Amino acid sequence: MLVDGHGREVNYLRVSVTERCNFRCQYCMPEKPFSWVPKENLLSFEELFLFIKVAIDEGVNKIRITGGEPTLRHELDKFIKMISNYKDGIDLALTTNGYLLGEGAEALQKAGLKRINISLDTLKKDVAFKITGKDVLVKVIEGIEKSLAVGLKVKINTVPLRGINDGELIELFEYAKAKGCQIRFIEYMENSFAQSSLKGLNEKEILDIIGAKYSFEKIGREGASPAQQYRLDDGYIFGVIDPHKHDFCENCNRIRLTAEGMLIPCLYFEEAMSIKEAVENGDIEKATKVLKKVLKDKPKENRWNDENSETSSRAFYETGG
Ligand code: SAM
Ligand code: SF4
Repeated sequence: MLVDGHGREVNYLRVSVTERCNFRCQYCMPEKPFSWVPKENLLSFEELFLFIKVAIDEGVNKIRITGGEPTLRHELDKFIKMISNYKDGIDLALTTNGYLLGEGAEALQKAGLKRINISLDTLKKDVAFKITGKDVLVKVIEGIEKSLAVGLKVKINTVPLRGINDGELIELFEYAKAKGCQIRFIEYMENSFAQSSLKGLNEKEILDIIGAKYSFEKIGREGASPAQQYRLDDGYIFGVIDPHKHDFCENCNRIRLTAEGMLIPCLYFEEAMSIKEAVENGDIEKATKVLKKVLKDKPKENRWNDENSETSSRAFYETGG
């Protein structure tokens, strides 16, 4: 079992397999970054897998693959298979913009993927273009439908933005509900890479919109997740992720690994340690040491809500959100 310096059990690893993306979402990557990480600096799947094995052997039992856009990485299904074959019972999930799932969902499911979170901020073509910089809606919807058809459990991630998609939260909610997918509204997190004029809706504003049509009760956080869950009278559950709070930090169970091999103990803080040298040399002892050191130094809580805290300069497309 892995325990951090504050006594929290850490069993959840999020792995970003690339920082590249085929979208340019206004809240994440409105411009192509000034410089991409050179391809040769990315860890290979074998190197990432070496670290994942160390983490699983030490007690990680929940893994989420993310990015950038993870489906851009060639032969992602083979990587999923490496992980799912390693040990039974690992909760393996993927977060994606869904654009390539029409073609790719089946191979991912066959490789052992069970759960998938797909980002969907609008059901309008022009708004999708405005948010992502590309005509994406038809393919994203196709990706959602295909994922469901091949038996993946789908959640929808939506970032409510003032004046952009806040007028269609009910439609998005009802779309997800009709498909039997949980929708999770994620409060926009300010960051220095986002388009500067963006304003997000807070949890209360989101709940007021849903509450104008549906009655629901709060049922608490989903395990150690920052998602606050709500249940309608008919049993449908939806979530709101409010990263500006830090009451969920006391149960935080996660660490993040970037595609370059930086192990990040907390999304908010800049601190990170590299596992690159260790995995390049196949040095399991060193990789374990880095993992334990990162856990020992994991901060107690984030500072999104501090008045003096600055806008995060960490790119979500690097950390995987
Ligand atoms: N490309 C994939 C996708 O869009 O789902 C995976 C990576 S993306 C960084 C992971 C999640 O972070 C997405 O659901 C996205 O909506 C969310 N995200 C990105 N930037 C955000 C921001 N500034 N505030 C809130 N959520 C953000
Ligand atoms: Fe790409 Fe996902 Fe960031 Fe959008 S949120 S730019 S799809 S990484």
